[in-house]
Amino acid sequence: MNIGILSLQGDVEKHGSVLRSLGIDFFFVRYADELIELDGLIIPGGESTTLTHLMKKNKLFQSIQLFAKNKPILGTCAGMIMMSKKSNHRLVTPLGIMDIEVDRNAYGRQVFSFVDDLPVRINGHTEKIKATFIRAPKITQWGKDVEILAEYNKEPCAIKQGMHIALSFHPELNGINIFHKEAFINHKAERKSKPSYAA
Ligand code: GLN
Repeated sequence: MNIGILSLQGDVEKHGSVLRSLGIDFFFVRYADELIELDGLIIPGGESTTLTHLMKKNKLFQSIQLFAKNKPILGTCAGMIMMSKKSNHRLVTPLGIMDIEVDRNAYGRQVFSFVDDLPVRINGHTEKIKATFIRAPKITQWGKDVEILAEYNKEPCAIKQGMHIALSFHPELNGINIFHKEAFINHKAERKSKPSYAA
């Protein structure tokens, strides 16, 4: 299995360490033709306005939207903003991969970044993790197909829709691999265990 880490800008390297901890091979990707080799993609945190600019420059919008139709994407922080269908900033063009609307920087400025305990419901059980929020976005609206994996102060901050996962925080900064595992390993197992209807 090969997972791509979108490496246009932002917090890229630490996702590699998380994937390594799961024994998953990965590539740093920047261009649309590199998506062909991949079984999944990570859109890391950074700055969603800059990501928008660079994704437009590298003509990645349509390719990532197509990719999302049958391969899982994990987006963290600015990555989640990019996966949403609507954000509150005119310089952000989201991909519309997940049925959520987000409010950028809703947890406040850089100085209000924090780490806190967060219980997560994932793969049939609850796990308590440490979650790092850095100028994090809030999910303000979500559709009925969106599964909430975790809430902070009663607001969703980790969600799953179909095979995709989006997080307001940065699991890679605390070496948390449960979301990468769910998106890229468990999801694959789910697909494999589906009955075949072939005659
Ligand atoms: N505030 C950033 C944005 O709007 C996201 C911050 C992050 O990814 N840590 O894109």
